[in-house]
Amino acid sequence: MGKVLIIGAGGVGRVVAFKCAQHPDVFEDILLASRTKSKCDQIAAAIGGNRVKTAKVDADNVPELVALIKDYQPDLVLHVALPYQDLTIMDACLETGVNYMDTANYEPKDVAKFEYKWQWAYHDRFKEAGIMALLGCGFDPGVTSIFTKHAAKHHFDEMHMLDIVDCNAGDHGKAFATNFNPEINIREVTQKGKYWKNGQWVETEPHEIGKMLTYPGIGPKKSYLIYHEELESLVKNFPSLNQARFWMTFGDEYLTHLRVIQNIGMAGIAPVKFKGVDIVPLEFLKAVLPDPGELGENYTGETSIGCRIRGVKDGKEKTYYVWNNCRHEDAYAETGTQGVSYTTGVPAMIGARMIMTGEWSGQGVFNVEEFNPDPFMARLKLDGLPWHEETGIDLEL
Ligand code: NDP
Repeated sequence: MGKVLIIGAGGVGRVVAFKCAQHPDVFEDILLASRTKSKCDQIAAAIGGNRVKTAKVDADNVPELVALIKDYQPDLVLHVALPYQDLTIMDACLETGVNYMDTANYEPKDVAKFEYKWQWAYHDRFKEAGIMALLGCGFDPGVTSIFTKHAAKHHFDEMHMLDIVDCNAGDHGKAFATNFNPEINIREVTQKGKYWKNGQWVETEPHEIGKMLTYPGIGPKKSYLIYHEELESLVKNFPSLNQARFWMTFGDEYLTHLRVIQNIGMAGIAPVKFKGVDIVPLEFLKAVLPDPGELGENYTGETSIGCRIRGVKDGKEKTYYVWNNCRHEDAYAETGTQGVSYTTGVPAMIGARMIMTGEWSGQGVFNVEEFNPDPFMARLKLDGLPWHEETGIDLEL
């Protein structure tokens, strides 16, 4: 049905390329481009069959992107490089009239702050150009937002409380490693916590609120309230929510490492002079930490991510839980990478499929929960991320 240009050849890019290559009826032609072409070539070779072409591109550079897009003429640019490149890639899509999608909202490099406002500001220009941008189509954001829409459509007349619960009960055998890009991950988890309560945001200190939550097939795990980007669009798109929170599990060992990293200044994003050269401590730290894309080989255990929702159906209070569990070993066996990259890459491929087939269409900038969740939920089951749901249960929250 068309051509897709995937930008970014990290753990997520690898999964996206593998999964798109499995569907030649939709993704007839695939180009994988990134800063380091050899990484694209490795992925293409692992997929085999000349399914994936490769190219080098600096996605911070709009003219370079425009030249690549004009040359390849894709139907969609699927961005899985870093959030710093969201706006340059959107600019290039506008200039060339090509649809855009990503899995993480824009973050300026010099401020550890992620918000949709920069990307939502492109709405009118995308609309005028007659193209669409689909934002945040990984797992969280992405599937968690679609789970919420599915709940609103099929299970509630009105939703009041949403708790997104994200557990990684995997073991990669390393003393400390992050499951996706370390720089982005550490910026995210060291931020202050924030949640939605009665029409306003309530701020907490980092990891100030923690609670034991029980995850299906895993058991109880200490979970901490953190701010996560999908909360911003979900409270806007589901105004009946009077509370919306996000919980993530962290082990004691992980939090201890994180505290030390912060206390000794290694999480800093302001440049420091070292032997006459400016270096950013967090960027240097990324260079010495394990590459998340390579964690897969001995990774055991599973992830469990879902939405716990309280609301009203037919005049009665109702509780509802929808979730997916993903085993790191299964993800590795299929794509050569671990579960966190897998749970991000599969929904990115499905989102791309929704655009390519026209099941999701529009002109402007959209979050995933603005579309019909049904075809997406059906594909999750077919493409490796089966989901389960239960009603009338103790949500623990
Ligand atoms: P990685 O660090 O493994 O990969 C990032 C890739 O982007 C690398 O190949 C890197 O190139 C490339 N890249 C970086 N800068 C540029 C540039 N200027 N031009 C071209 N390519 C560039 O990250 P992940 O694969 O773990 O994550 C990818 C994205 O997915 C991130 O945006 C992350 O926030 C998002 N994500 C979303 C999740 C969700 O559920 N929604 C969950 C997890 C991740 P090089 O190899 O040269 O460094």
